[in-house]
Amino acid sequence: MAQSRREWIRGNLLASGALLAPAGAWRQSPGVKTAGGTPRMRLTFRPYTLQLKHVFTVAVNSRTTTPVVLTEIEYDGIVGYGEASMPPYLGESHDTATAFLSKVDLSRFANPFELESILETIDGLAPGNPAAKASVDIALHDLVGKLVKQPWYNIWGYDPKLAPVTTFTIGIDTPEVVRQKTREAAEFKVLKIKLGRDTDKAMVEAIRSVTDRPMSGDANQGWTDRQQALDMIGWLKERGFLYVEQPLPKERVDDLAWITERSPLPVIGDEGVQRLPDVRKALGVYTGVNIKLMKSTGMREAQKMLQLARGLGMKVMLGCMTETSCGISAASHLSPMVDWADLDGALLISNDVFDGTKVIDGKVVIPNRPGIGAVKLGARG
Ligand code: MG
Repeated sequence: MAQSRREWIRGNLLASGALLAPAGAWRQSPGVKTAGGTPRMRLTFRPYTLQLKHVFTVAVNSRTTTPVVLTEIEYDGIVGYGEASMPPYLGESHDTATAFLSKVDLSRFANPFELESILETIDGLAPGNPAAKASVDIALHDLVGKLVKQPWYNIWGYDPKLAPVTTFTIGIDTPEVVRQKTREAAEFKVLKIKLGRDTDKAMVEAIRSVTDRPMSGDANQGWTDRQQALDMIGWLKERGFLYVEQPLPKERVDDLAWITERSPLPVIGDEGVQRLPDVRKALGVYTGVNIKLMKSTGMREAQKMLQLARGLGMKVMLGCMTETSCGISAASHLSPMVDWADLDGALLISNDVFDGTKVIDGKVVIPNRPGIGAVKLGARG
């Protein structure tokens, strides 16, 4: 039955061009019932494709687009917005998110404030699918914030003035392009450099030739030898780096712990830290964790990860995928409590559909608006 429904939805999406065109038609998850007079939550969603301003290259791949799914949860005339961003190498897609969201029946919950049990039920619908789950979590948080007329930083008790600066990411490229991108990123106080290839030192030296700003490095599991990785971290420290992400493949836990024990810079787990149970496992393996809504299944679990990491005395970084200002705004409400933010995802795309959290003078600025603070832009896409 599930298979036939998926095929039916896919057939409809293909017929509407939704799987081919950047913007798909809005779909409503099945099972929505209207109980006479009682407000019920209604989930709708549509595929959308983000266009990147530059070809984006990291250690494992290059790409020019990112598939996302935009969600809305409507309840009693109020709409909450959400998003799933799905870089292809993580395994989710328009198809998988559509299949997952088609199973979500919010009409069985009468009270949107029961975030905990609603999101636990949704998490249990299928394993995996963290971004699709995040798209429901974010829309539900946005809805609840709007219902109580408060931004999430107020609900959580965080001071938005403490929001940090964000890094701006420079992807792997030729020295000439890297120098140009560095000049264009003049507003940003910290640059994040994608590493993990044999061109690392040339990349760093090209950037250092045009700026003395602090930097962070992300090897994206691209280094292979632990001693060479440790030597490289020492070399990066001498060149003004603040921390490094994921020096080795996530499976090499013992080697990562060996590096972390000796590293002159904090070592942050990203690919190796997805959800809440991973934070505890990261203790002793990494200095800190990189929390992203698209890995954690959304704001609810991301905040728990933040609190657990803090309780364990670990550093916390807040990251993102390429996302619209919807996903970035949602993540930004956690930013006052983190050591480092990497929330440049919406700045890397040319077809954002939301206005929300901005970067001003390199600093994350969260709007004082209820919910996640993202407002839909006009009828673009
Ligand atoms: Mg990373």
